[in-house]
Amino acid sequence: MRVALHEAGHSFAAWRFGQIPGPVTVVPGPRWAGTAHHERQPVPVADLDAVDVSMPYLAWPAAVRHDVDVQALITAAGYAAEEALRRTPGRCGDPLAARAAELAAARPLTAAEERLVLADREDTTDATDDERLASLMLLAHGHDPVTGSAWLHYITATAKACIARDAPRVLRLAGVLANRGTLSGRAVIEILEET
Ligand SMILES: [Zn+2]
Repeated sequence: MRVALHEAGHSFAAWRFGQIPGPVTVVPGPRWAGTAHHERQPVPVADLDAVDVSMPYLAWPAAVRHDVDVQALITAAGYAAEEALRRTPGRCGDPLAARAAELAAARPLTAAEERLVLADREDTTDATDDERLASLMLLAHGHDPVTGSAWLHYITATAKACIARDAPRVLRLAGVLANRGTLSGRAVIEILEET
């Protein structure tokens, strides 16, 4: 059930933050206990082109910041669901920020990677949640680790609050997922929209 809750957290957050949920599975793969996909809403190219990563995050186009925040929320929502709904000490907050900072320090993003993270329409890269959060944190706050860590706290707190507020919905999705193993995006949407 832990993996089903984790993946349901990702799918719920994608739906809650206006993306289109895709297939989700708790059948283990080579690097994961499960996966949850979603289709990203496109960001206008003019906004992506207007990003200057040497400028503070708040100076970026609003549509790009929204997209980066939403991708981080969806990524953080796996751990957030485990923590919010199992009431076990989780990885949100300090441990997650520390791990992301460690990964970020070990592997600074190149300019090419910055473009890639910004424009990436795929959520099926082989990055783990930690690696993806580290990339997003570096992209948004690469020049200021203190702000990066604070941003990640804000992201994980928001993910947890949204999941806690909609707990019955997330638990229902996790329950069906645990039973069936794999769900299509359409099935995810139907379960989340049931009242
Ligand atoms: Zn995950």
